[in-house]
Amino acid sequence: MSVPHYPLHINGEWVDTDENYEVRSPATGELVATVAKGGAAEIDAAVAAAKAAHKSGVWRNTPPAERAAIINTVAASLAGRLEELAALQSRENGATIRVTGALHVGLSIANMQSVAAQTLEYEFEKAGPEIGPVPAEGILRREPLGVVGAIVPWNIPLLTIVWKVTPALAAGNTVVLKPDEHAPLLALELMKEFEAAGLPKGVLNVVVGDGHDAGARLSQHPDVRKVGFTGSTEVGKSILGASADNMKRVTLELGGKGPNILLDDADLDVAIDGAIYACMANNGEACEAGTRLLVPSWQKDDIVARLVARIGTMKIGDPLDMATDMGPLITGEQRDRVLAHIAKAQTQGAKVAIGGAAPVGEEFANGYFVEPTVLTDVTPDMTVACEEVFGPVLSVISYETVEEAIEIANDTEYGLSAGVWGADETRVLDVARQLEAGMVYVNDWHVLHPAYPFGGYKQSGLGREGGPNALDQYTEQKYISVDRSGGVE
Ligand code: NAD
Repeated sequence: MSVPHYPLHINGEWVDTDENYEVRSPATGELVATVAKGGAAEIDAAVAAAKAAHKSGVWRNTPPAERAAIINTVAASLAGRLEELAALQSRENGATIRVTGALHVGLSIANMQSVAAQTLEYEFEKAGPEIGPVPAEGILRREPLGVVGAIVPWNIPLLTIVWKVTPALAAGNTVVLKPDEHAPLLALELMKEFEAAGLPKGVLNVVVGDGHDAGARLSQHPDVRKVGFTGSTEVGKSILGASADNMKRVTLELGGKGPNILLDDADLDVAIDGAIYACMANNGEACEAGTRLLVPSWQKDDIVARLVARIGTMKIGDPLDMATDMGPLITGEQRDRVLAHIAKAQTQGAKVAIGGAAPVGEEFANGYFVEPTVLTDVTPDMTVACEEVFGPVLSVISYETVEEAIEIANDTEYGLSAGVWGADETRVLDVARQLEAGMVYVNDWHVLHPAYPFGGYKQSGLGREGGPNALDQYTEQKYISVDRSGGVE
């Protein structure tokens, strides 16, 4: 079977360049596709096209209901291709097929539908209250910003794209999307669907390229009015710095170090599965994973024994198999980073309760697998408890009192997600209210829903994506006052 090739999409054209990326399965090394490699020149061309499309009014003057209809058409097309796209995503970045179906593609579709519905209700223009003492009225408007840049990572590409591109388009902006070079295929499949749905040329452009080249150019470009970014906190800071020159608006979705607190009355039959799911879903490559498990010191041995028993039943391997619980990490470099974190934690006094290595065997020989790992005797000052590992590594930290657990949970520069498990709802909610995180999950985890906002406190980000105010992030507010006194006092 021939390997598909994807050009870039600029100004309504599919464009090739002199160089290609090879997109390979991190499970097997199989060549999945080749993709044209863009750089600063292609970003400049895409921004120019997006600027011209914005200026022409072809999209911002399209009635919101028509914009919403195009988004709904694309959502329906994706729904019709759900299994195919989920499989493509699993082959591309190694996330398991159960996760790519439900989360990557399924939740993306739900978010598109939610934004389309919001667009129909959105008050792009409304009359404000009267302004005294002269007879005057105000008009409140929400206007598109112009050219929006969207920069996304490889771990959950489609959802992080949809969170930006859909509200940006719904609000009448034009967009340049820069996917990560390791996982650009669903961005390009989405582009095909928008083209088929009749999106005018130049309104959405996709340039795949390296971060330091294409990404940096997009974040610095003087004609870009906003950047929506998902990625590491380090790169997020450089995007924020680059925004200063022309006062770009930014939404930043960055890293996390989610604390997951088990209270002493938690139902362990459920919470142990929940703690593993919190940390290890999407192969542990999730920004809002629950990576620090905070347990009562007197229950620690029981909890660790249960974690070890349950993790021992997990199936590692082919991400396309519905029975697989954990696939490979994205690259050999990422696998080595994760293994180095485990080794460093041991030198600092942590113990490996299960896992801790790359699995051995023929089926793992060509992939970047890491065993699901539990570290015990972790203390809050250890590197593994402070830095994002971005792999299947759960750090178990003991606490003596609930107050201490909250203190440990909040003692981090991150604040994306947190969780708390317990039987007494009053107590659980009391803890939840004290946690410094954008999303707090009670007796569950990864409960992402289009009706609720996604984003972090502190250095986990700036702004929110999705939720009931998704379009606000991609509009400017304008106030027009109309004096009807005829110039007379
Ligand atoms: P990364 O920051 O290296 O890359 C993310 C994107 O930024 C890629 O498209 C990359 O090409 C681009 N990029 C890299 N350097 C750039 C630069 N100098 N200027 C502009 N763009 C640049 O992130 P990664 O390691 O590939 O992805 C994992 C990170 O993403 C983790 O830290 C994870 O927590 C974070 N993440 C956050 C969320 C969230 O919503 N908060 C969701 C998923 C992932």
